[in-house]
Amino acid sequence: MSLIVAKFGGSSVASLEKIKDIARRIKQMKEEGNQLVVVVSAMGDTTDELIELAHATGPNLCTREMDMLLATGEQQSAALLALTLYNMDCPARSFTGWQAGIHSNSNYSKAKIDDVDAQRISSELEQGFVVVVAGFQGISPEGDITTLGRGGSDTSAVALADSIKADRCMIFTDVDGVFTADPRVVSEARKLSMVSYGEMLEMASLGAGVMQPRAVEYAMQCQMEIEVRSSFNQHPGTIITEGKNMEGHRVVTGVAHDLNCARFAIFDVPDRPGIARELFKQLAQEGINVDMVIQSAMRDHRNDIAFTIEENDLERAIPVVDRLVKTLGASGMSYGNSVAKVSIVGAGMQSNTGVAADMFEALAEENINIHMISTSEIKVSCVVDEDRIQDAVRVLHKKFNLDRIE
Ligand code: ASP
Ligand code: MG
Repeated sequence: MSLIVAKFGGSSVASLEKIKDIARRIKQMKEEGNQLVVVVSAMGDTTDELIELAHATGPNLCTREMDMLLATGEQQSAALLALTLYNMDCPARSFTGWQAGIHSNSNYSKAKIDDVDAQRISSELEQGFVVVVAGFQGISPEGDITTLGRGGSDTSAVALADSIKADRCMIFTDVDGVFTADPRVVSEARKLSMVSYGEMLEMASLGAGVMQPRAVEYAMQCQMEIEVRSSFNQHPGTIITEGKNMEGHRVVTGVAHDLNCARFAIFDVPDRPGIARELFKQLAQEGINVDMVIQSAMRDHRNDIAFTIEENDLERAIPVVDRLVKTLGASGMSYGNSVAKVSIVGAGMQSNTGVAADMFEALAEENINIHMISTSEIKVSCVVDEDRIQDAVRVLHKKFNLDRIE
């Protein structure tokens, strides 16, 4: 008998038909003798629809009330799944995040889980129920409902799995696992049987949106192994685990790409201490995340500074940067959203030289211009023109022989 936490994402509970399909699967796992905690997302696009409804009330969207509203999506699918299970003679009980003991801070809309008190769900499991928990939500110290950021049901699942010391944490989704590249772009992309937390974290935050990055981080901290697999078939998925548990030796594990990328350049910024602080402080105050930064070599005590942000922040960033150009005494700026980011990820890069050079060579051979470069221990990213991004992903996939990875 195993204690299993299984999370089903929005596409797996998008209709009553789909809920019935996963209920059959859950019932089967239960009949095989397992104890089950099932975490669900809201049905299909429910969260987006609720956000749209909220916007229709007016311009002021109080985050406390937004969380109150958005949490209902997951409550709906949790109750519907429990009802479906009951109707299949599989006793189940659904719970909100707070009933399940998920305590968070009060940072509405992106609250962090502080602690899970699993007493209630443990006792329900003891009584033989399948426990269904509404994902994506917790309760603040003040007793208010919070939500955990978009995609937050993944984090709910990992936190619950850790607190009840589950034997397995399974994330059921609409893809077969984690791939060497987006299969819609590269037809030869292969499913990885294993990937390390670090690699997954890079891939998750680089736009290969299989799991919420924060959930991967959480799993890494508590060393909870995760299996990502499809809810629509029985194929084994991808295990996300500690790098040292992985066999074999591969340098590059995957090619990720991200279209949600916009570029700014500020020209002739005076070269003096405090300039970068001023620039990035102002953007941070607007809640705009800066990703890559390049400061060019100085000439005549002036620099050009270029950086990237998320494309959806572009409109908000333009007036901020425009103001800064004036206050900093720069000569002007340019910006655009016709760029995208391509990255190679692999834990093996740490011990192999020349990987970045191979990447640049592959892009050069394909005549793809690189606007910016950034690196970490296990990743190299390049900003390229958006209309060449698919070529870039394909050529890199080929260069690093990812179509042959085991
Ligand atoms: N329903 C929430 C969202 O769409 C949380 C989740 O699906 O994990 O972001
Ligand atoms: Mg998701």
